[in-house]
Amino acid sequence: MLVSVFGVDMSAQGVEFAVFSLLKDSRLIHFQTKRHGGVSTGVYNSLNAGFSVGDSYENVMRNRQLIASAVGKDLSSFVFCRQIHGNNVVCVTKADKGRGVDFLRHDIIQDADAMITNESGLVLCVKTADCIPVFLYAPETLVVGIVHAGWRGVSMCVVEKAVRQMIAGYGVDGSEILAVLGVGCGVCCYEVGAEVANLFPSDYVYGNGAIVHLDLKNIIREQLMRSGVLPSNIEVSEVCSICHSDSFFSARAQRGVVGYGLAGIGLL
Ligand SMILES: [Zn+2]
Repeated sequence: MLVSVFGVDMSAQGVEFAVFSLLKDSRLIHFQTKRHGGVSTGVYNSLNAGFSVGDSYENVMRNRQLIASAVGKDLSSFVFCRQIHGNNVVCVTKADKGRGVDFLRHDIIQDADAMITNESGLVLCVKTADCIPVFLYAPETLVVGIVHAGWRGVSMCVVEKAVRQMIAGYGVDGSEILAVLGVGCGVCCYEVGAEVANLFPSDYVYGNGAIVHLDLKNIIREQLMRSGVLPSNIEVSEVCSICHSDSFFSARAQRGVVGYGLAGIGLL
């Protein structure tokens, strides 16, 4: 397993984002935005990519355009899903290009937390603020996927389901899959109650009492391996979004209203 601290920080036109060593491939684009370089203010300061959190429509659209431009893609090639903390996996094609990029279009992919495609020219995106973005890439078969992984989705095995869909739906061999867990809640800060902790093996729960710490990253890692991904093909960011809320949006650290960062992956 590879461990990345900040991935590799990149800055383009003032927009900051992290990239990860396992996914450095000229046939691929991937990124996880940090929170600086956008136009939003207050709790959304400044690169909020999420609608429906109270930020202005114009600012979110401008931030999304800035992100697309910084990573060298047109925003119309991005695809968004309405994330519901479930385990639905959607296979995306060119026909889905641009869905959900503009809140006013009402054509976002409904009720999904994972997307997969084997078509080029698309950027599959999930929004996160402590939930963990999981990037999936099969370099031989040329299939990519992205998963929004919070405790609810992970308790329903969303990551495992996405990997199994890559294998069953696209003929991917599990041993070729590269998986990166981006920046998200770390066990250092991620407190949950007993009702949440009880959903997971006790090996990943630390502490006693009403509030315990959950090691979501290693739970996801186990799901990846169970579904056929090799341990040496998994990279885990050690950065905790709650510890580093100065650099990444964190719902926990901001305790309430918060902006969202964007994680994306696509075949060129
Ligand atoms: Zn932390």
